[in-house]
Amino acid sequence: MISSKKIINILGTKFHYVTRSEAATFIVKCLQERKKASVFTPNPEIVMEAYHDTRLQAILNNSEMVVPDGIGVVIASKILGQPLPERVAGYDLVQEVFRQIEHKEIKVYFLGAGQGVAELAKRKMEEKYTNLKIVGVHNGYFDNDEDIIKLINAAKPDFLLVGLGAPKQEYWIESNRDQLHASVLMGVGGSFDGMSGKVKRAPDFFIKLGLEWFYRLISQPTRAKRMLRLPVFLFKVIIEGKKYL
Ligand code: UDP
Repeated sequence: MISSKKIINILGTKFHYVTRSEAATFIVKCLQERKKASVFTPNPEIVMEAYHDTRLQAILNNSEMVVPDGIGVVIASKILGQPLPERVAGYDLVQEVFRQIEHKEIKVYFLGAGQGVAELAKRKMEEKYTNLKIVGVHNGYFDNDEDIIKLINAAKPDFLLVGLGAPKQEYWIESNRDQLHASVLMGVGGSFDGMSGKVKRAPDFFIKLGLEWFYRLISQPTRAKRMLRLPVFLFKVIIEGKKYL
């Protein structure tokens, strides 16, 4: 568990009080000391899913670090009078870790996204961080976990990014944690689509104002239904959030 003792429980899911830079420092420390850690970055949709799914909630709560990827979770912490320091988007957290490990002997593996996307993400990240050691990639559409685990372990990564979308990646990491030799296992959602350039990140203007969700809504209208869970989430936090603190 991360050394930051402070935790806020939002509708049953626990979040750590860390900034992006503290979260990155924790990951790098685990990588260097070869300590096993699972890292997740739930947004309000996942908190709502975990609210109804005790197995998912236990996976999140038993992991070494959980940070809020979603301004909605930060707003909820404010409503509950215990504001989290900032939103820690999984994508940004990974970039911060890449910056810090680029010149170290730490190896990375990308698992997830559609055919060719992780390869493209690897190339883009190697252009951006010229000394980053990405030792393997595999798409996220496979049937046999055992074969994939063998492939990953043979490449000997330290940092395994799993982008199967939530909550699939949370289940996958938990089920296979003991067989995987990498020390840090992190659920990264659609980050490979972002790294490859396939899905554009919102302009900084939207991110700074906490409106990345709005940008995604207008650029990917198919997500509208998923986003409708945000008001339901905030309403639940107002009505029964204090009970979980
Ligand atoms: N995905 C995958 N395998 C699956 C289902 C999904 O690799 O069986 C990938 C999908 O291609 C996409 C990511 O998981 O790259 C999910 O992206 P999304 O933005 O929907 O996830 P979120 O960040 O919201 O969890």
